[in-house]
Amino acid sequence: MSEERQLRIVLRNAGLIDPDSIDEYIAHDGYSALERVISEMSPDDVIEEIKKSELRGRGGAGFPTGKKWEFTAKADSDQKYIICNADEGEPGTFKDRGIMEGDPHSVLEGMMIAGYATGTNKGYIYIRGEYALSIKRLQKAIDDAREYGFLGEHILGSGFAFDVEIRRGAGSYICGEETALMESIEGKRGEPRKKPPYPPTCGLWGKPTVINNVETLANIAPIVINGADWFKGIGVEGSRGTKVFNLMGDINWKGVVEIPFGTPLSDIVMNMGKGIRGGRKLKAVVLGGVSGSLITSEELDTPVDFNSLARIEAGPGSGSIVVLDETRCIVDIARDIAYFFRHESCGKCTPCRVGTEEMYRIIDRISKGEGEERDINTLESLGKSMMLTSFCGLGQTAPNVILQSLRKFRDEWLTHIREKKCPVNV
Ligand code: SF4
Repeated sequence: MSEERQLRIVLRNAGLIDPDSIDEYIAHDGYSALERVISEMSPDDVIEEIKKSELRGRGGAGFPTGKKWEFTAKADSDQKYIICNADEGEPGTFKDRGIMEGDPHSVLEGMMIAGYATGTNKGYIYIRGEYALSIKRLQKAIDDAREYGFLGEHILGSGFAFDVEIRRGAGSYICGEETALMESIEGKRGEPRKKPPYPPTCGLWGKPTVINNVETLANIAPIVINGADWFKGIGVEGSRGTKVFNLMGDINWKGVVEIPFGTPLSDIVMNMGKGIRGGRKLKAVVLGGVSGSLITSEELDTPVDFNSLARIEAGPGSGSIVVLDETRCIVDIARDIAYFFRHESCGKCTPCRVGTEEMYRIIDRISKGEGEERDINTLESLGKSMMLTSFCGLGQTAPNVILQSLRKFRDEWLTHIREKKCPVNV
């Protein structure tokens, strides 16, 4: 992993300890946060500390973690659940995989603390079936934690009981959406549910359920150990702490980095990523996955935090940075994205089922030199209505990058249509 300008909280142990060794995790302060919450803090204290830290979920939406926990803690129920969403299915995204493979116990410890704070005794890790090494390491971590008394009944001699099971996804992108994920754990077809009710009060099998992303959970133990004020001192207003990204595409260095919020995107791409491959110019960055945003070279100095990115209609999204150099055809990229969503649409609602198909059909035609000028307007109005009327986040975000490319690279689209050729000869 590139070391320059990183600040490692989530990745504190990655590459430093043997991820299969619980003893090495313990030797690096592992499970001391769990010990502290059980012996010194009430569940309310833990929630207050997480709220005070201003930790926001790292799965894309950025919902305040402490608030989410509070909803579930206050819900009156005989059974509650914690789910770790490890179904990292966004194309070009592998930062959660880096966390799970590098330090599986940090995710487990976060789940245990969430369980203690919310009065929950059961956790599930819902993980991509393709992540064989992550699954192996997490399973070993669970088995070892049970053997050492961190999972099971009477944890560390207290009255707190908690256990974790792994559930493997079968390759469906929509199962990363929290309600489809719960349907899948329940053994049903992975389709989103209507919201509200929201999972913190009515989730898995209708019970209050906290769903946190892998990276969110890996932040919990350091916050407990170092305190909310320490965490709040990192990052910027509205975006506290660090953010893990994976870098890939036409870049000299690819991998996983962790930066304090507020770091300019140009710093990540040009310094940590060591610039564009082959000395070429940067064309754009697909930020936060194919449902995320398209950043141009003029926007590259934007600080990476929720508020600054929102000003350019972007966000950290899935935590992926895919760099495109000047030789990439923007219509080709849009076609690949449309193809992906057409394939992954679950088909439950019409705007997304028909819209993703139609978008792909039009873009494919343009890429073959058979487009017409009115196709641009059709794509724009189709994309906007999908965003407004689709049932879940998939259909609402599928047009994001495509619509931004129409706006930011309009000349390139028009050249494909008017001159029947690709300006970069793809
Ligand atoms: Fe399914 Fe797409 Fe509708 Fe979501 S938006 S429910 S993925 S068809």
